[in-house]
Amino acid sequence: MKININPNSNPVPAAEREKRVAEPGFGKYFTDHMVTAQWNQGAGWSDANVQAYGPISLDPAAMVFHYGQEIFEGMKAYSQPDGSIALFRPEANALRFAKSAARITLPELPVNDFVSAVDALVKIDSGWVPKRVGESLYIRPFMIATEVGLGVRPSNQALFAVIATPAAAYFNAAKAVTVWISTEYVRAALGGTGEAKCGGNYAASLLAQQQAAAQGCDQVVWLDAQERRYVEEMGGMNLYFVKGRGKDATIFTPKLTGTLLPGITRDSILSVASDLGYKVEEGMISIDEWRDGVASGEISEIFACGTAAVIAPVGTAKSVHGTWVTGDGNPGQITMEIRNHLLGIQHGTIADKHGWMKKVSQ
Ligand SMILES: *Cc1c(COP(=O)(O)O)cnc(C)c1O
Repeated sequence: MKININPNSNPVPAAEREKRVAEPGFGKYFTDHMVTAQWNQGAGWSDANVQAYGPISLDPAAMVFHYGQEIFEGMKAYSQPDGSIALFRPEANALRFAKSAARITLPELPVNDFVSAVDALVKIDSGWVPKRVGESLYIRPFMIATEVGLGVRPSNQALFAVIATPAAAYFNAAKAVTVWISTEYVRAALGGTGEAKCGGNYAASLLAQQQAAAQGCDQVVWLDAQERRYVEEMGGMNLYFVKGRGKDATIFTPKLTGTLLPGITRDSILSVASDLGYKVEEGMISIDEWRDGVASGEISEIFACGTAAVIAPVGTAKSVHGTWVTGDGNPGQITMEIRNHLLGIQHGTIADKHGWMKKVSQ
C-alpha cells in the first residue's frame, strides 16, 4: 500500500501546539494530520493518504452507522533520550487489529501496511510527541464499514484511519481506582466478540460502567458470563493480582479464556515481572478468592494495565457481596517497580532486551 503524503497547509501554529503538548490531557487535542485508506472487495486497499486532520464525510446509510461494524487499536509513541521517537510493539497491535478484523468480517490490513501508516503519521506529527516521562503520543487506528445499504451482511467497502493525540502521564495524580464488580452485566461470553477490539464491546459496557459510577466507583470489573464468579478484566484494562510480598511474590493475571481482550500491556508485564525475578502465573481467580485473599493479606497489591494508563493501582472493590479493600489507596511497591521498569523500556532508559521498541523513521 503506497501512502501519499499531503501535508496540512494550515497546521496549528507552533506556539499553540507547544502549549497543547505541554498540557496534553487525554484525547483533548488531535495532531495536524490523519491517515486514511479505502478498501473494497474488488480492488483491495487503495487511496492511502496522510492528510490534514478533519471530518470524514459518509453516506447516512453507511453500514457502520447501523450494525456497528467497527474495530480499533490503541498504541503509543514515546520520545527517546537521543531525540528520536519510538513505537511500543506496533506489530503486536497490527496483528491484533487483523484478528479483530477477521472476527468482525472487516478486511485484514497487512501488518506492514498498518505499521507504515502509523509510522507515517508519527513522523509528520513528530512535533506533537510530549517528552516527559510517562507522556506519549497516543495513536488510535480504526476501521469502519462504509458500504451503503441496510442489508445485514459483511460490508464490501471499508475505511481505515489513524488519528493521534498527545497524552499526559495519567498515573501522576492517580490514587488507587475503586471498582464495582458487576454480577448483573457481562462484557463477553464464549463465542462472542470479547477477544476483538471492537466498538460494540464498549457500547455494551457503558450501562455497567454507569452503574459503577452510581455506586461511587471509578470502573467496572467483569466476571465470566457463565458462572459470574471468575474475574476477567476491568473496563478497558486487564487485571493483575500480587500474591505474597517481596521477591517471593507471584504476579498473577486471569488467563485468556477466549472472552478476555488479550492486552499487549498484560503480555509485556508477564515478561517484565519475570525479568524482575518474580514468579508469574496465569489462571482463574473467583471473587471469593479475591475477597478472602485480601482479608488474609495473601493478595498484597492489585493493579490494572492497558496502553492508555500503562498501570493503575486498584484499591477498594465493591459488589452486591460486599466491599473489600486492598492496600492503603496508594500504589504498591511491586506495582510501582513493574510500572517504572516498563516505562523505562518505553522511554529508552532501560535496555529493550525483548526488541519491543521500533524507531519511527526520520
Ligand atoms: C485495549 C483493551 C485492553 C488493554 O489492551 P492493551 O493492548 O494493553 O492496551 C484490555 N481490555 C480491553 C477490553 C481493551 O479493549
